[in-house]
Amino acid sequence: MTSPYLDTLLFIDGRWRPGSGGETIAVHDPATGSQIGTVAKAGRPDLEEALAAAARGFESWRRTSPFERAALMRKAADNLRAAAHDVAHRMTLEQGKPLAQSRMETLAGADIIDWFAGEAPRAYGQTIPSRAPDVVQMTMKVPVGPVAAFTPWNFPINQAVRKVSAALAAGCSVILKAPEETPASPAMLVRAFVEAGLPPGVISLVFGDPAKISNHLIPHPVVQKISFTGSTQVGKQLASLAGLHMKRMTMELGGHAPVIVAGDADLETAVKTMVAAKFRNAGQICVAPTRFLVQDDIAGDFIEAFASQARSLRIGSGLDPDVEMGPLANHRRVLALEGLVQDAVSHGAKLVTGGRRIGNAGNFFEPTVLADVPVGARIMNEEPFGPVAIVNRFTTLDEAIREANRLRVGLASFGFTQSSAVATRLANEVAAGMMSINHYGLALPEVPFGGIGDSGYGTEGGSEALDGYFDTRFVTRRG
Ligand code: NAD
Repeated sequence: MTSPYLDTLLFIDGRWRPGSGGETIAVHDPATGSQIGTVAKAGRPDLEEALAAAARGFESWRRTSPFERAALMRKAADNLRAAAHDVAHRMTLEQGKPLAQSRMETLAGADIIDWFAGEAPRAYGQTIPSRAPDVVQMTMKVPVGPVAAFTPWNFPINQAVRKVSAALAAGCSVILKAPEETPASPAMLVRAFVEAGLPPGVISLVFGDPAKISNHLIPHPVVQKISFTGSTQVGKQLASLAGLHMKRMTMELGGHAPVIVAGDADLETAVKTMVAAKFRNAGQICVAPTRFLVQDDIAGDFIEAFASQARSLRIGSGLDPDVEMGPLANHRRVLALEGLVQDAVSHGAKLVTGGRRIGNAGNFFEPTVLADVPVGARIMNEEPFGPVAIVNRFTTLDEAIREANRLRVGLASFGFTQSSAVATRLANEVAAGMMSINHYGLALPEVPFGGIGDSGYGTEGGSEALDGYFDTRFVTRRG
């Protein structure tokens, strides 16, 4: 039995409740376009209450031993696993991705909580040899303070769980502004922590007008750290506001991942791995492979095999267990993709397959392959954030690396080759936060996750992820 989709409330100071103004925002099923529920809208008094609670929550949580924090987080991970069936169902209803992907995201979320729980007691400082025999010098890692976290709709659990788990493991309290389009699944994540016994104020969950909320929270003296995942454009606005108030930041922004397929690559592996990566979550992934650069001699075969596998994907409602690709999460993406494909074709790109919306109900879009796309086309410069692959050819590796590095975004990148010399060049010379060679190996809890340039800064995975939530305090003592 699956429980029904429920309206989502705010969670402030240990209580689920509507917004003080009584306003709500409609939530829609992207597969049908019909309204499935509502989410409560926070106003200024709600935010003020969340801020006061976060300040109190921080005072108690920072004093809770890291071992206790870890134990509670592990309970939350177990709660999330136990609820995975219901969470996945609600996530698919509100976001559209196939049930199996929603379930995988939820279970991966539990693994992320467990991993950060394990890191909590390992936040080691250093002792530093001193110049005087009676002086002891050391560093301590102290939690930075209450965190404001802003997360998007493409991975309603995953984007939130990375921020919340790192903050809680470090001893910070957190106000999570989760996505209004997909509110029920992050609410279930918060519920998993609450039911594990997290004290009031340590976590709050708010929804509403994103710009009003960020404009209120970021400058507020209680908030010491901002973490945002979303578009580069919004990230830059929030980063400048945070900079104005000298607040710490982690920014996980857009990408436009290059995939360099050398002539000696195992073509079958490259195509199979990249079709799965490209069309997962209907391409709405910041690390989705986007600009395929394929060496001349195999480009024709690559395009044919890639397009044929793309055409064979089963598309439909994510609730149907046979479906491999669901709808786009919102109508804005359909319009954006139509515009990008038309623009590419008008610049002379070849539309190999797809390119159109499917039907009139819901936000379905065909898996699309564009080939030989000129660099002046918008899609070569803007993140498509949808099921569109661009395949262009290259002759020399220098040329491919130059094209990979042409954009200022640098999040994920991929390479396929059987030559260790080529693999070494890709690892050394492609300017990106992440490079995955001959397989898809990104986004595990224990490995770094983050970008450079316009893709942002800070990592949301691996042992360095906690550093974003700590200040380093130096203590020196004589005697
Ligand atoms: P958008 O730029 O309006 O919003 C992106 C996210 O930021 C949303 O979750 C939104 O609620 C939030 N947001 C927007 N304005 C904000 C503000 N002033 N303060 C705080 N939060 C704010 O775009 P969109 O139409 O939702 O998505 C389109 C683009 O966003 C995509 O093309 C993609 O590039 C990017 N995006 C990236 C990720 C990612 O994982 N990096 C996730 C979702 C969207």
